[in-house]
Amino acid sequence: MVMKDEKLETIYQDVLRRNPGEVEFHQAAREVLESVGPVLAKYPEFRERKIIERIIEPERQIIFRVPWQDDKGEVHVNRGFRVQYNSALGPYKGGLRFHPSVYLGIIKFLGFEQIFKNALTGLPIGGGKGGSDFDPKGKSDDEIMRFCQSFMTELWRYIGEHTDVPAGDIGVGGREIGYLYGQFKRLTSRYEAGVLTGKGLDYGGSLVRTEATGYGATFFVEEMLKVRKDSFDGKRCVVSGSGNVAIYTVEKIHQLGGKVVACSDSNGYIFDEKGIDLELVKQLKERERRRIKDYVEYRKHARYVDGGNIWEIPCQVAMPSATQNEINGKDAALLVKNGCIAVGEGANMPTTPEGIQVFLQAGIAYGPGKAANAGGVATSALEMQQNASRDSWTFEYTEKRLANIMKNIHQTCFETAEEFGAKGNYVVGANIAGFIKVAKAMVAHGLI
Ligand code: NDP
Repeated sequence: MVMKDEKLETIYQDVLRRNPGEVEFHQAAREVLESVGPVLAKYPEFRERKIIERIIEPERQIIFRVPWQDDKGEVHVNRGFRVQYNSALGPYKGGLRFHPSVYLGIIKFLGFEQIFKNALTGLPIGGGKGGSDFDPKGKSDDEIMRFCQSFMTELWRYIGEHTDVPAGDIGVGGREIGYLYGQFKRLTSRYEAGVLTGKGLDYGGSLVRTEATGYGATFFVEEMLKVRKDSFDGKRCVVSGSGNVAIYTVEKIHQLGGKVVACSDSNGYIFDEKGIDLELVKQLKERERRRIKDYVEYRKHARYVDGGNIWEIPCQVAMPSATQNEINGKDAALLVKNGCIAVGEGANMPTTPEGIQVFLQAGIAYGPGKAANAGGVATSALEMQQNASRDSWTFEYTEKRLANIMKNIHQTCFETAEEFGAKGNYVVGANIAGFIKVAKAMVAHGLI
């Protein structure tokens, strides 16, 4: 489909030509371009200063070799990435993803989205993302450590508390951040805690960072429900994934009175009509690093569906928290048909453009990842604040800050959508509000 604005269509055609094969990046870029037409009418200086053409081009892209040895002494070679996308609002900030599907197009889509997400938090952070096609699954602790050390042996020269601050994402949690930080410290001889976030509590981490993305996404959905004079109380929910984001989404939904009946991993999903036993999921996934199918060994009444599609389970609230493009048009239609009234994206870009259209046309509350999952990076920025002031805040205080940030993001998206004639459309609200903030800073900084 051709865009309404001819100039934006020309820019998009350029994106396709200059970034061949990077389909996820094309998708993320298109969604933003489709939203910002009315902004250019209101702020002609953005067009004159070619803000869109500049924002779409990363400031810097680093690609490097990561050699490492497994426990048998065999040598492996992976590829490492760091895309420093935009520093108009602060140091580049965004996670590292270790997953075999990683290539430049994935890192660029994530980095591009991160610019606007970070702007929405209202905190002084630019956008970036990184990672590797390394697969942590089935690797020993020592293998993970050797890989992280090799990865950091190249990355350290490009990062710093005032330049670029990586964190976790798929396949990168507290264990990996620990090894990465240790190697950074060894190579630089500096105890620069603010260089990475998601650190352990013993060495500069922040309370609530582990919970932040899932809690934040749930707070965002709570706000969307409030607008509709509704709440989580008694709602039947489905949360895809069973990693960091999924686990703490389930936890907060249960605290708010909802019931999560299904979650998943890349092999299949579990369905537990009595409500997911979160302690069991934590034991299996966080402590024992096992597969979600093992859940039914302990909860005999629950069902595991190998290779099944989790979106076929009827629910009122769906929170995709695994990966990109996990809800297509058909899944979205099925969710709506089965009575879903709200979708909050814990994952990044989990819904395809066709799926988004289904949700918007059905008029359900749809919170895009850029806004809904911003609680993770926001709490990372709070971790940076604590590191800078050599302070550590309590759980209650930090969670309150997170809840307020999510409330503000929701309000900003809601009001911006209304201002630009798209009431209730959080996609337009998030894209426009994030874009304007970054664009104004870029204009102020001159042509750089
Ligand atoms: P984890 O690695 O902790 O968990 C990822 C979960 O998603 C696992 O259950 C994994 O299953 C599943 N998954 C991953 N890839 C696929 C796939 N290709 N198909 C099906 N299932 C898959 O990652 P996070 O929980 O940290 O991240 C989940 C999502 O949230 C990602 O989109 C990430 O970008 C986004 N996000 C994360 C933030 C954070 O703070 N961690 C912040 C903002 C967004 P399996 O074990 O089988 O691979």
